[in-house]
Amino acid sequence: MPPQNLPLLVQPIDTVVQRNERGDDKCYDGSYSTLSSTTTITNPTESLSNEYYAVKWFSEWEGYGCVALKDIGKHTIIHEEEPMLKAEQITNALERHVNGAHMTPEDDKKYLENECCLKKEDIDKLWQLHDQHQDRYANGKNEKRLWGILMSNTFENEENNYQRRLYVQTSRFNHSCSPNIGYDFNNWTIRLFTTRDVKAGDTLCIAYSDVIYFFPREKRQKYLLSAMKFKCACSACSPLPHDIDENQRILEKSDENRKRLKQIGMELRDRVESDLYDATFCIHVNDTIKRVSASKEEEKTKEITETEKIARREQLMERVRLRKLSKKIPIGEYDLNLIMEYIRILEHENIDHDMIPIFELGYKVASQIGSPSTSEWSSKCLKLCQFSKGIDHPKTRAFQDRIVRLPGKK
Ligand SMILES: [Zn+2]
Repeated sequence: MPPQNLPLLVQPIDTVVQRNERGDDKCYDGSYSTLSSTTTITNPTESLSNEYYAVKWFSEWEGYGCVALKDIGKHTIIHEEEPMLKAEQITNALERHVNGAHMTPEDDKKYLENECCLKKEDIDKLWQLHDQHQDRYANGKNEKRLWGILMSNTFENEENNYQRRLYVQTSRFNHSCSPNIGYDFNNWTIRLFTTRDVKAGDTLCIAYSDVIYFFPREKRQKYLLSAMKFKCACSACSPLPHDIDENQRILEKSDENRKRLKQIGMELRDRVESDLYDATFCIHVNDTIKRVSASKEEEKTKEITETEKIARREQLMERVRLRKLSKKIPIGEYDLNLIMEYIRILEHENIDHDMIPIFELGYKVASQIGSPSTSEWSSKCLKLCQFSKGIDHPKTRAFQDRIVRLPGKK
């Protein structure tokens, strides 16, 4: 699957919440929901900031987000966090909601206090997170539920077998299709780091979904809107206003780049059994987009002209021809060139926040053909893993052992 440290179901949404000075969430009907009768928090963002960033209110439309407090160099760890809830605590809460055992927010809060042993102030912090399903509970009260908060904010990852975890502070980072913050895990701990130099005042964003890799802007936005309930207006989706033509050119180039990533991903999958390209996820995205489009009248009536049909068919034929041709090329430099091109595009599009899988693939191909670049790929993997996962992580140790075993090393 695509960059393996990114979960398929990352859904920390925090883009459309409004709050009053007390920190209560504004409901869709204009009233404010109450956190709890004993709430003492006056500013929900104070306790969520650190020396690198502050959680700030952006606008009614954007909600809260994180802003850099100073210039921060590339590859700086800006935040580490243990989950407030994890594993069975989460699956039990979800099950209880589905089977009707948790009927009210009070049931949820009792569960958090009695069974998860959370302190009152932690429950209040958790309750301030966004619930993207808030408007669809049966009682029509627009109240938050633990189920919705968890469905909107939990992470899952290969670490600890994809068991869900909830990081209250990390959930305050908004999404971008060109994020400047990457994240990785060491056991249950999440680590957030800058992927490029950041200036004081810059908004800090992570990527919520792998949809950013292979999908052009229009499809990404449709998917994010339908699956995660927000309209993406990140720097990749809405470049800063230059002139209209220049913006159009930037967007078209970016779309082209992301389509090319998909082509390379598919080609590498077929040639060297790479798992960069995740077919299941791509099908899921396309299905979701189709479902949304089918419900809109204007999409249904949109006609494809005959010329467009012919052009698409020709494009498809050309792709098939090239794929057949490339199968005859023996595994070697050709694949390393594809990998290098893939990396160049990731860097150009600022989506180089999870590079271990592509470096590993570089190592796999290079070592298979005995390329002199083998040790280079190997040390790239090790360096990044030491930094993003930590020196004590099993994967880091495995990369270290591999370097020791490389020919020429004792
Ligand atoms: Zn975007």
